Amino acid sequence: MRLLLVEDETRMAEALSELLGMEQYDVDVRNDGISGLEAAQCGDYDVLILDVMLPGLSGFEIAGSIRRLGIKTPVLMLTAKSDVDDKVKGLDSGADDYLTKPFEVKELLARLRALTRRNVNAPGSAFVFGDISLIPGTFELHCTSSGQSVHLSKREFRILEIFMANQNQILTREQLALQIWGYENEAEYNNVEVYLSFTRKKLAFIGSHVEIKALRGRGYELRESHV
Ligand code: CA
Repeated sequence: MRLLLVEDETRMAEALSELLGMEQYDVDVRNDGISGLEAAQCGDYDVLILDVMLPGLSGFEIAGSIRRLGIKTPVLMLTAKSDVDDKVKGLDSGADDYLTKPFEVKELLARLRALTRRNVNAPGSAFVFGDISLIPGTFELHCTSSGQSVHLSKREFRILEIFMANQNQILTREQLALQIWGYENEAEYNNVEVYLSFTRKKLAFIGSHVEIKALRGRGYELRESHV
């Protein structure tokens, strides 16, 4: 698993790189935005970890640039403060997740596992349910009955992937949160419903017969309606 870490605080970068190395990650470090962007464009990485405040180019600018180039490598943004604007800006620029400094290493590792799990589990194979299919690596949701496709966010993709891997099973909000974020966090439970609602809208948008059914007091299930 290859990681690029772009962080200008050299002691922090070294410490992180060493810790990640012990977890069997192969880490390249860059200490400024310009060389960080160059490495992100040229290297074959599984995840990019970008600090926001960097000399040269910010983490937002790096993420925005590589997304415009069509590079879909997952991005974990490191923000200095728990500023909501920063998070929104980060996600808008193409980041898949963010972590507020200071953070615990085990939290960083959990986020990295969540971001890379997709590649580990099903390299290149499509998940199919009813009239929809997901192609890992593309974030595209395709509907065979309407012939339409839509781009999914990382989390919408992950939600459908979890449901498709657990077909005909009812999943609780807690199970979904644990699988989406890779760790237990009470605050994320409510976010599950927000992402479920985004995902439902995408399913409706492409005219799929598949729906995420809420079963009161029990959880959620992926179902095919035959209306
Ligand atoms: Ca910095």
